[in-house]
Amino acid sequence: MMALDEAARRRLIETVARTIIDHSDELTSLDQAIGDGDHGANMKRGFAAVLADVDALSAKSLPEALKALGTQLVMKVGGASGPLFGTLFMALGKNLPDAPDRQAVAAALDQAITAVKARGKADVGQKTMLDVLLPVRDAIAGELDIRSVADRAVAAAEATIPMKATRGRASFLGDRSIGHMDPGARSSALIVGAIAAALGTTS
Ligand code: ADP
Ligand code: MG
Repeated sequence: MMALDEAARRRLIETVARTIIDHSDELTSLDQAIGDGDHGANMKRGFAAVLADVDALSAKSLPEALKALGTQLVMKVGGASGPLFGTLFMALGKNLPDAPDRQAVAAALDQAITAVKARGKADVGQKTMLDVLLPVRDAIAGELDIRSVADRAVAAAEATIPMKATRGRASFLGDRSIGHMDPGARSSALIVGAIAAALGTTS
């Protein structure tokens, strides 16, 4: 699928980081509705650290870069989502080869999702980031082109609106969590969209 050179790795990392930073107000608003309003600031802090470290990160192989990026997120994002997004990227790095094809990406994402589930003691259907990651894994495995994978991620984030949260801070609201998009699901869709934009049509 992709053997990314250093310039491509840099474009990938910068696009993801800038996309999250540019959407931090939106993520804050979503978390104000069903959480404590810190998700935008949390993610912005984490990805600002990633951006500041982009020279060192993009000099590494893709697996090593993903592991180091995940470590940055664990250290800097905080909240519930820091360890979870950190685990996601670290596990992707651990399981991806240097030049993964489509099935290798799907398999690594599958293993990363398993790690996120274990870390958060959560599963699909609980109105979290997992409700985007699972459909994305299926879309990649199902041969969708990269733009369609990103569209699927956006739709999956929107599909968290009618869900009732049963994990994380939003679960404290019970039925009142219904009617709002999950902030971590939105972040996940933004990350997938940024990856698709950075990789362009090279899938
Ligand atoms: P906090 O909830 O500590 O304020 P954030 O606001 O940064 O942390 O992140 C909230 C997001 O984290 C939620 O929208 C949800 O997607 C995700 N999340 C929270 N708990 C879990 C969990 N146990 N498993 C998976 N994702 C979770
Ligand atoms: Mg929060």
